[in-house]
Amino acid sequence: MIYPDKRVVYTVFYLIVAFLFLSSCTSVPITGRKRIALLPSSNLATMALQSYQTLLKKSRLSTDSRKVATVRRVGARIAKAAEAFMREEGLQSQLKHFKWEFNLIDDDKTINAFCMPGGKVAIYTGIMPIAKDEAGLAVIMGHEVAHAIAKHGNERMSQMLLVQLGGVALDVAIKNKPDETKNMFRLAYGVGTQLGLLLPFSRTHESEADHIGLILMARAGYDPVAAPYFWQRMSKIGGGKRAPQFLSTHPSPLKRVKRLKQLIPDVRSKYFRKR
Ligand SMILES: [Zn+2]
Repeated sequence: MIYPDKRVVYTVFYLIVAFLFLSSCTSVPITGRKRIALLPSSNLATMALQSYQTLLKKSRLSTDSRKVATVRRVGARIAKAAEAFMREEGLQSQLKHFKWEFNLIDDDKTINAFCMPGGKVAIYTGIMPIAKDEAGLAVIMGHEVAHAIAKHGNERMSQMLLVQLGGVALDVAIKNKPDETKNMFRLAYGVGTQLGLLLPFSRTHESEADHIGLILMARAGYDPVAAPYFWQRMSKIGGGKRAPQFLSTHPSPLKRVKRLKQLIPDVRSKYFRKR
């Protein structure tokens, strides 16, 4: 008789555990998709805060007060929209650990923006020319905040812990493998990469963030028609830098734009009120 590798047995065991969690866990707003988000929000918020503070300390913050004010103004409006949205979905308790913060990092080479759990948002100056104006910035922030409130990072991190560390609890992982855990966190949240917004995350996550992001920007008073234009501009950059993997896992820019255009009339009539 051949005994299966211990790791295989463990993996199967954890997959079963994951399946059980999956069948009992909450679902993503709007799409209703069930997902694994095993990690306690409070743990993630603590980790996010540390990671965010470290990042801010080693980065140069923008001193362009006009741009910083714009980022914070759009951010505050998107945050307010996210809170109202989650209240209506009956999910406001999920924002319990959120203390919104919006910072602009002075780095023209980095085309990135992200929102960590707890509402810690960073925008890099490198993405500002692609954002072009306030509405473009609202597309980015709506999309990133949507990833956060749909708990995509939590889901990605849960999957990584499951596959790479055999499904250990987050606090155990932090204690035993601090560096690996920090790396997983950065990867899960798209922190510290030059083309973060174009990282090959799953199509499911991207289209959920696109849809919820549209709703958030519309509720914040920005016309969602700006979204396909932003993604069109975004698709023109980084051409040479894209890995082949990118093409297979990321929604193609054309499909994304087409889908956004299909969603706009409904989102616009339901949520968009001019300010
Ligand atoms: Zn995304």
